Amino acid sequence: MKKIVDPLLKWYVQNKRLLPWRKDKNPYHVWVSEIMLQQTRIEAVIDYYYHFMDKLPTITSLANCNHDKLLKLWEGLGYYNRARNLQKAAQIIVEKYKGKFPQSYEQILALPGIGEYTASAIASICFSLKEATVDGNVLRVYMRLNNCYDDISNPKVKKKVREKLISIMPDDSGNFNQSLMELGETICIPNGIPKCDICPIQNYCKAFSKKTYLELPVKSIKKEKAEEFYTILLFIYQNKVAICRRNESGLLHNLWQFSCFSGHMKLSQVKEYLNTNHIEYQKIKKSIHYTHIFTHKKWNMDSYIIFLTNTNNIRNVEWVTLEELEKIYALPGAFQPFKKAMIEEMINDDEA
Ligand code: SF4
Repeated sequence: MKKIVDPLLKWYVQNKRLLPWRKDKNPYHVWVSEIMLQQTRIEAVIDYYYHFMDKLPTITSLANCNHDKLLKLWEGLGYYNRARNLQKAAQIIVEKYKGKFPQSYEQILALPGIGEYTASAIASICFSLKEATVDGNVLRVYMRLNNCYDDISNPKVKKKVREKLISIMPDDSGNFNQSLMELGETICIPNGIPKCDICPIQNYCKAFSKKTYLELPVKSIKKEKAEEFYTILLFIYQNKVAICRRNESGLLHNLWQFSCFSGHMKLSQVKEYLNTNHIEYQKIKKSIHYTHIFTHKKWNMDSYIIFLTNTNNIRNVEWVTLEELEKIYALPGAFQPFKKAMIEEMINDDEA
């Protein structure tokens, strides 16, 4: 394994992609980018990163940011707890470390929302500490290099890989970690045939010599995602739409949504609900069906657009214009398709 260090470092310096957070070693920049990159592709993150840094250029500005404004900045990236934890950690850094990013691995790891991987990335890239970043890309490269058939979803395997990488870690730990990740993202790719012909460590790769790279890495099959069924009622009155806050705990807590009911309702059931609650409407129309996939579950949603005659008996909602919904309120990705469908319907209604 030690033999891969020099060729990898040399390859990385010559071939690394020029990404905005790689322009310097500012821990705030590296930290925010690493959090954004969890669950999100690099290409999708770049614009968000620029916008975020434009609005919140320092740890202190993040710590003091209005909560709703922060969630709005995060809209579209999903997994909003990442944004909440970023702010909690920023507040700790301001209070406990006088706004200066902590420099030991243990202190970084203790911050909210920072796990082993992110702590190692910040510690190695910004402070040259010999910590190893082990994500799916690194595990794939490692397993192929060693022709190892251990199950990478086993935490013990991940721990073993981390220890092994630390044992060969050069002084330039930040670049070494990034070189392994970059190799996994661009050369030793997950889907399809890896680009072994241009791989800088092909000479040391056992999976290449045995032609077993497509069998590796081994990963046990995940459980089926639990499926939940909902009906979304999209209330429109004049030029405003009704939104409400989600519960204070649970998935997407405290974010905004449209009126959401458990189970799939037929048109006749929606009408019955409206009549029972004395909600007066001009017209009602079945709208889109959409399934949103989360990490552990999926939401299977039907929807209806309802043009109201008045707002009587619609409780616990805010009435907002589409412009306000766009600029002020953070609407999770799960509800964005309904917003789009509703806008189209309002335009059609105006033209009719
Ligand atoms: S030689 Fe091929 S399989 Fe081996 S590390 Fe390089 S790209 Fe991956």
